[in-house]
Amino acid sequence: MSMDQQLQSLLDYQGDKVLSVYLDTDLSNKSKEAVRLEFRQRVAELERVAPRQVEAVQRLLDFDYDWQSRGLAVFVADGLWEVIPLPIPPRTRVTFTARPYVRILTDIGDRLGRYDVAVLDRARLRLFSVAWGKIQSETEAFGEDLKRHKQGGWSATGYQRHEDNLALRNLKQGIEVMQEFVERTGNRRLVLGGSPEVLAQVRELMPKPLLDQVIGEFVVDVGANPNEILSRSLDVLQEVDLEDERALVEQAITEAAKGGYGVTGLTDTLFALHQGQVRLLLVDETFHASGYLCSNCGFALSEKRDQCPMCQSDHLEETPDAVNVAIHKAADTGAEVNIVRENAELLRVGGIAAITRY
Ligand SMILES: [Zn+2]
Repeated sequence: MSMDQQLQSLLDYQGDKVLSVYLDTDLSNKSKEAVRLEFRQRVAELERVAPRQVEAVQRLLDFDYDWQSRGLAVFVADGLWEVIPLPIPPRTRVTFTARPYVRILTDIGDRLGRYDVAVLDRARLRLFSVAWGKIQSETEAFGEDLKRHKQGGWSATGYQRHEDNLALRNLKQGIEVMQEFVERTGNRRLVLGGSPEVLAQVRELMPKPLLDQVIGEFVVDVGANPNEILSRSLDVLQEVDLEDERALVEQAITEAAKGGYGVTGLTDTLFALHQGQVRLLLVDETFHASGYLCSNCGFALSEKRDQCPMCQSDHLEETPDAVNVAIHKAADTGAEVNIVRENAELLRVGGIAAITRY
């Protein structure tokens, strides 16, 4: 199962309470024993309410986990056992809640996402498809004409112009190969790498629909090793994500202020989620809040009331994490979720907001 499918199955999960565990298992700065110890400390108070679930994760850490990833997420309940290695170390967290605590997983998906990378010069094109911080596939194409002529040795006269023409033809061919590649992966986001001159020329030659999918670029030698290309492209993605988030937060705030397609703050956002109005949920990564959940109609409130304002039921239960409830409600109603970082504007309006459908 791919990471996307695993995340979806967790969002769809309905059943007994779930022990969700996120662990930083990056052994470059600590021992396995230190990770096991931290886990035991975090679950100390859960051992009585969820003994079998805790023991299952304990067994995994003691015997079965291969310690090859920098992070680990585990979700366990009766009928649920999901172990997900993570490409980056998460903030360590343990919860025992009605539904899987998916927020950190969503955040990592959000940050690392899926995209393609094209690194090229005038004779060579390398293509990568990236998902969840890992290179999934790599292909390579050469401008054969240019190579052959160079090997054959041309006389100096007329060579430069001939080479320029070949280079142009290679770039055009390269762009066609690129186009086929991004259509095949379906990622719809492309990062370019190369020299500033080549990048400028490629942008000029690209057909508009392909150019629209280019989200950023970085300067790199065409022969750079894949790890360098991956890490440089992730830097680009990080920057693009922050800019996107700033624009989306601004849109939600502006719309909310004029009573349009936006809401801000926990109370209004939970209400819009309950009504199925939300198209995109925006949550600050540091925002946490407890709340109350109506066990009759499922409405979530940020503050305690005697009765549910939706159905007048008095069965309101406290929930330690209203934000996790909000994220699951978003998934249930087909809304997207974006975990937002380094955004003072969102924190100013209460750490949570949404862009609505109507
Ligand atoms: Zn209710």
